Amino acid sequence: SKSVAQALSKFYTQSPAAVSKLNDFIAKRGEGSWVWTTEGRKLLDMTSGIGVTSTGHCHPTVVKAVQEQAATIVHAQQNIFGSHEKAVELYDKFSNGVMPSHLSRYFLCNSGAEAVDNAIKIVRSCTGRQNIIAFDGGYHGRTIGSMSLTTSKTVYRQGFGPLMPGVFVAPYPNCLHCKTQAEWKRAGYHIQPSYPPFDAPDCRKCCGSPAEALEWMLLMQTAPMDTAAVILEPVLGEGGFLSPPPGFMKNLRAICDKHGIMVIADEVQSGAARTGKWWGHQQFDDGGMRPDLMIFAKGMASGYPFAGVAARADAFEKMAPGTMGGTYGGNAVACAAAVATIEVIEKEGLLRNAHERGIQLTQGILDLANRHPTIIDVRGRGLMVGVEFGSKDGGLVAPKGIATAVAKACIKHDMLLMTAGARECVRFLPSLNISAAEVDIALKLFGQALDEVVG
Ligand code: PMP
Repeated sequence: SKSVAQALSKFYTQSPAAVSKLNDFIAKRGEGSWVWTTEGRKLLDMTSGIGVTSTGHCHPTVVKAVQEQAATIVHAQQNIFGSHEKAVELYDKFSNGVMPSHLSRYFLCNSGAEAVDNAIKIVRSCTGRQNIIAFDGGYHGRTIGSMSLTTSKTVYRQGFGPLMPGVFVAPYPNCLHCKTQAEWKRAGYHIQPSYPPFDAPDCRKCCGSPAEALEWMLLMQTAPMDTAAVILEPVLGEGGFLSPPPGFMKNLRAICDKHGIMVIADEVQSGAARTGKWWGHQQFDDGGMRPDLMIFAKGMASGYPFAGVAARADAFEKMAPGTMGGTYGGNAVACAAAVATIEVIEKEGLLRNAHERGIQLTQGILDLANRHPTIIDVRGRGLMVGVEFGSKDGGLVAPKGIATAVAKACIKHDMLLMTAGARECVRFLPSLNISAAEVDIALKLFGQALDEVVG
C-alpha cells in the first residue's frame, strides 16, 4: 500500500486538480455492480461511472463482442468506407424498437458533449435560425458549445468565457422549491416520488408556469423567427434528478409547434433504458412530447466511447455532404459494444429491472426518511433516484455540505455514491442489472452513512 500511495502521489502531480476526484484509490477491476481497488477493497458501485456501465462492469456478452471486433476491424473510418458490419447491425436495431420510430436518421460520434454540439449544427441548419433555449439546471457537456447550454453549476463554466452567443435560459420547474411550496408543505407532503406506484400528490399548481415563462421569453428575449430549438433533459441529471410536472412536456411541445421551434431531448443520462423505458422522454408522453432530435451516449455502449444524435428524417436535408463528421465517429469496437449492450438490455429484461429495482430503491429510501426527516425528497424515475436533504427536522434549507458528507460516509462503508446539483442531493445511478439483494445492501449502507452523518 506504500507503493500505491507513492504511485498516486506521482499521478496527482501529473494530473491537474481541475479534474476533480471523489476518491483516491486506483480501480483495478470491475464485475457487475462491484469494483475492486488495487488495495483489495471491494466497492458497491451505485454510480455506474455516471450512468455508463448500464449492463454492469465487464458484462460477458459485451466483453466477447468487443474482443471479437478488436480482432476483426477496429477503425473503418466513416468517411473512407461506406460503413462496417457492426454499424449496419446497430442501425437495424435502432430502427427496430430501440429508437422512437419517428427518429429515423442517426449520426454517431464519441461523447455526449460532441453530440450536443452536432445537434446545435443540425437545428441551426434545419431551421435557418440561430438561438437555442436551454433550461435552468441543465447539463449538456464541457465543449464551448455544450458548456454554453449548461447551467447546473457555475464551476463548469467559470473563467472560460465568452461562451457561445444566442443561448437563452428558461426556468425549469422544481416542485419542491417552487413558489407554491409553502402551500404544498402545509398540505403535509414532504416526499414526492414521481412515478407509479408512488403517484405524487396533485399539488403542482405551478406546472403551467414554466410553459408560460417560455412564451414570455419568446415575446421578450428571443423571437420565434430567431429561435432554432429548445434543448432539455427529460429528467435533469447533473442538475439533481428533477422530473417535470404533469403537462409540462405537452405544453412545451405545443409552444414549440406553434412557433416552428425544434425540440432536442438530451437523453445522455436519462436514456438507454435508465428510467425503465428506452428513453426518458417516453415517461412523459402525456399527449405527445415527441422530440425532433434526441442525443444519446453514456449507457448505450456499457463504457465504450459512443454517442450520437437521432433525428427526424428531414433534419439533415439542408446539410451539404461533408458538413458532418469526425475521425472516430461510429468506431467499430464502440458499435460492437453498443449492439451487445442493446442485446443484453433486451434479453435480460433490463427495462423491467430498472423499473422494479427503482421502486425497491425508492421505497427503501422512503422507509429511511421515516427515521431521518432530513430526507426531504426522493425523486427520479427507474434507476435514476435522487435524494435531497433539508434541515434535520425536515425544513427546506439544508446544512451546506451534507450531501458530500453522506457520499463520503458511503465510501467509508465501501459504496460509491455521487452528489448531484447545486442543492444538497445525492444520486443513485447503478447498473441496470443490479439485483434485489444488491439494492438491499445499498440501502443498508446508505442507512448506516445517514446514521453517522445526521445521527
Ligand atoms: N448531456 C447530459 C445530460 C449529461 O449528463 C452529460 C454527461 N454528464 C453530457 C451531456 C455530456 O456527456 P459527455 O461527458 O459524454 O461529453
